[in-house]
Amino acid sequence: MKKSAQYTDWDLGMGRDITRRDFIHDSGLAALALSLPVSVIGSGDPGSDGQYYPPTRTGLRGSHPGSFETAHALAREGRSFPAPRDLDEEYDMVVVGAGISGLAAAHYYRAKFGKDTRILILENHDDFGGHAKRNEFHQGGQMRLSLGGTHNLEHWKFSDTVNSLMDELGVDIEKLLANKEFGYGRNGEKGPAIWFDADTYGQDKLLTGSTLNEKDPDRMVENIDQFPVSETAREQLRQFYTARTNVFEGVSEEQVMAYMTSTSYTDFLRQHGGLGDEAVQLFDNANHGGWGVETRSLSVAECLGIGMPGIQLLGKTSEADKWEYPVAMFPDGNASIARLQVQALIPDVAPGTNADNIALAKFDYSRLDQLDSPVRLRLNSTVINAVNTDFGVAVTYINNGKTLRVKVRHCVMACYHVIIPHLCPDLPEAQKTAQKYQVKRPLLLTNVLIRSSEAMDNLGIAGASCPGRMHSHIFMFKGINTGGYTHKFADKGPVPLTFWGTIAPSAEVVDIKAQMRDARARMLALTFEDYEREVRTVLKGMLGPAGFDVKRDVLAITVNRWPHGYSHDYLDLWDPDWPEGEAPHEIASKPFGNITMANSDAGADAYTHVAIDQAYRAVQELSQGASEQVYDASA
Ligand SMILES: Cc1cc2nc3c(=O)[nH]c(=O)nc-3n(C[C@H](O)[C@H](O)[C@H](O)COP(=O)(O)OP(=O)(O)OC[C@H]3O[C@@H](n4cnc5c(N)ncnc54)[C@H](O)[C@@H]3O)c2cc1C
Repeated sequence: MKKSAQYTDWDLGMGRDITRRDFIHDSGLAALALSLPVSVIGSGDPGSDGQYYPPTRTGLRGSHPGSFETAHALAREGRSFPAPRDLDEEYDMVVVGAGISGLAAAHYYRAKFGKDTRILILENHDDFGGHAKRNEFHQGGQMRLSLGGTHNLEHWKFSDTVNSLMDELGVDIEKLLANKEFGYGRNGEKGPAIWFDADTYGQDKLLTGSTLNEKDPDRMVENIDQFPVSETAREQLRQFYTARTNVFEGVSEEQVMAYMTSTSYTDFLRQHGGLGDEAVQLFDNANHGGWGVETRSLSVAECLGIGMPGIQLLGKTSEADKWEYPVAMFPDGNASIARLQVQALIPDVAPGTNADNIALAKFDYSRLDQLDSPVRLRLNSTVINAVNTDFGVAVTYINNGKTLRVKVRHCVMACYHVIIPHLCPDLPEAQKTAQKYQVKRPLLLTNVLIRSSEAMDNLGIAGASCPGRMHSHIFMFKGINTGGYTHKFADKGPVPLTFWGTIAPSAEVVDIKAQMRDARARMLALTFEDYEREVRTVLKGMLGPAGFDVKRDVLAITVNRWPHGYSHDYLDLWDPDWPEGEAPHEIASKPFGNITMANSDAGADAYTHVAIDQAYRAVQELSQGASEQVYDASA
């Protein structure tokens, strides 16, 4: 990892006492919640009363320590566990994984088999939601929310199934859209910004009103003149951005398309854009957040399709230029969706909650796993085995060091597909191979609660892209006034700054899956202090000149690591065009006796709506007379 050459740990305030492991003490909810019933908001400060309340935990979150070790021992070391003890509990079905897909599976199961069916949802993390993770900070009499994982709803892609679920949850997309000022860091007074850091570019330089995706050539040239790179690189960039030509003149459309889908974007920049390594470096991490991969691993077609520069070399203009990103959002991202799902399944966790107050709701985690509830959600429970039997399915899991088994009619695997071959070793080999193909993309989302937005306001920015740093983008997370929560852009008080991206794999690693594994290993090897040093370096260099005091103004840090992040969607350079029915996700998600497969992996697309659609399918594949259709292992 890059260590700052110019700042010592002392300069960065590394020794300072910030909130990193527990929660921020404050009684901020009261101010926000005057008009809400006590059951919605809870009383006092969640966490400080000693209650189990993971959203306020800081430090290493996302896949936090304690959540993945059992699965790794099983999958990586082939470890065996003590014989299970059978639970004295009765359920009709078990869901493996309490992400949005698993929660949706429980919903659809009740819709199909009846409200009285008994469901156990097992989740290896200390919180529910999977990637839909809420980060909650309390400071200065206020609660400040941020997203710890999945951000937004791409509602224009919703199926009827997803729209119906949103209706049932009371999610009103129009209302969400109408109450969003947030613009992913691009809508500061001076527009988007690029921050060049001294460790990479020799000097710290913030360039406001600037983006690598600028479409106005004159404005781009003015910006390039200020890029702290060599004059050779600057001149290459000027030529590239101002060129108006068709480098494929006389070549057939098919041949152009074949080139665009088989050539790396960075190779295209070199071959046709005339850029050398120094200029190409500016684009290296541009897709860390959006795709979870290096730009070198994406095709020309994929990059031009999202509005990256280069279309001017094809004699065309880009449709993507006109594209706004009209997503709907809650102030804790899609964690509000997961919370609404949980509340619908287990109303006792937050009585009186609805989509209009969900962001403020205090959830009573002690109600998640109650004897008298038809749906029980058990956290800190890693499933290690699920096997079809003559009565249905036997599911074994580890909770608090104990090996426990539960026997049910049905089981939905809503977990990552790569782990399923280890949980269901009897699966057909072709299915296991297909599941192992679905290597997820690591992602990183670090929230830093800063004392005030003043420095950024002074600079006229709401965020920046950082082509030289670990986190490729930063945005101030405010301006989403939905779910009962308000944090206006004009508010200069404490605000979460979201550092967004992934860990780059070694430049020598070529194969995409090897890249993902390398990035994952690096991500897990970094300590909290490594991440802290990184964000402090950026804050000092970027905001220090505008009055930000890195020793004083950092209030809390929550690092959300997602070693298994985005589902593997098929990429031009790495995946063949599979014949229908033969794509890995189609083989991977076939039912297996009374076990069916959900998760966004089953749709080979990393979206909330995909996770929901796949849950619906997985439940429809379960048959009423489950015990009559058990898998016959001897067949
Ligand atoms: C940082 C980030 C940002 C994203 N942003 C967006 C976005 O803006 N919009 C969007 O639509 N999508 C986004 N996504 C994609 C996101 O993956 C999906 O939207 C959706 O949340 C996936 O839900 P899921 O239930 O399929 O999987 P997950 O959320 O991964 O849930 C699966 C759960 O199963 C658990 N599990 C795994 N193995 C076991 C086991 N053996 N035993 C028990 N539990 C187990 C996992 O720990 C996890 O909690 C983002 C993803 C990430 C990581």
